[in-house]
Amino acid sequence: MLGIRAAWLFDGHSETLVERPLVLVDGSTIVDVRGAGEAPDGVRIADLGEAFLVPGMIDAHVHLCFDSSTDVVGALAARDDAAALKQMRAAAHSALRAGITTVRDLGDRGYLAMRLREEGGALPDILAAGPPITSVKGHCWFLGGEVQGVEGIRAAVRERAERGADVIKVMATGGELTQGTHPHLPQFTVDELRAAVVEAHALGLPITAHAHGITGIRNALDAGVDTIEHCSFMTADTAEADPELVAALANSDTVVSATLGHIPVPGLVLPPRIAALLEKLTEIFQQVTAAGVKLICTSDAGIGPAKPHNALAYSALQFTEIGGDNIAALRAITSAAASACRVGGSKGRIAAGFDADIVAVQGNPLTDITALRRVVAVYKAGRPVADPAGPQ
Ligand SMILES: [Zn+2]
Repeated sequence: MLGIRAAWLFDGHSETLVERPLVLVDGSTIVDVRGAGEAPDGVRIADLGEAFLVPGMIDAHVHLCFDSSTDVVGALAARDDAAALKQMRAAAHSALRAGITTVRDLGDRGYLAMRLREEGGALPDILAAGPPITSVKGHCWFLGGEVQGVEGIRAAVRERAERGADVIKVMATGGELTQGTHPHLPQFTVDELRAAVVEAHALGLPITAHAHGITGIRNALDAGVDTIEHCSFMTADTAEADPELVAALANSDTVVSATLGHIPVPGLVLPPRIAALLEKLTEIFQQVTAAGVKLICTSDAGIGPAKPHNALAYSALQFTEIGGDNIAALRAITSAAASACRVGGSKGRIAAGFDADIVAVQGNPLTDITALRRVVAVYKAGRPVADPAGPQ
């Protein structure tokens, strides 16, 4: 048995911290969390000194197959599957080193995220959607998930379930990444989305919808999706929260996955339209947070230079800037994210019976969220990760 000692522990949910914790791990599972005191006989102690323990972080919206370059679509197109898998492995490993012990891949090509998971190695746990379901020439069509009509969308859901998907991802609107699509415009009718929801739920899978524009968000909410990605209220030329729709979201069980955070990239200049939009989005998410919409904090890792696969700590920082306090931000990347991903029974908490995915950081993230960027140790399924990221 392994005993991990540190200075403080946040269990993923409780406001009450554990001082001088001793986390007992048997194999890949946490069996007990104790305060200061003697370790039982026969326990091998890993003393992390002044470190602060938090649950392994969960990034519920990543794309391992996008390489965070300035042209992720072109870069992926230039890679065959073997080359793409190699790049995906590196991306996933960088996440693990940064304390992200579970990722949910919301769009790959050819089910490669599942292949990577099967190959195994020093990786986070990978929950995968496979190619996102989209309309003909719709957002991310090049990943291979084009469908038409109610029957087409149902068949696509079934195919993903058969391939071992953990979640269904459907593109309810266009997106920035795909030329010829428009983020503010819907891609599916509410009937088509509802067919996808019914099929996914019948197969025991959660379903999440990518939605930027108001009609797409409304359609996804009315169809009963479990989560909405982005939810940015984009219009043809800017973004504007719709108070009625925000209230409807707050009154629903649908969770919004706020794809936040950018790392500073020297020399990177955003086009003025995007820079203005990002400012607007902060305002919108302040309104969404204040209205009481259920939020988790995710990154959309991979889609550009400011969003590498180890950037979730920056997402948490922005979560505090849209009005969430530090404990809400921490829950939004641990226990709440686990629940939204339907792994809340095994992930996102440091408690007996949970998977021993544990991160040690330098500093107290409840008073300084940037402590999440100073990762001194990572345990994945009870085993130490060889090369934790350190300060970043
Ligand atoms: Zn995405």
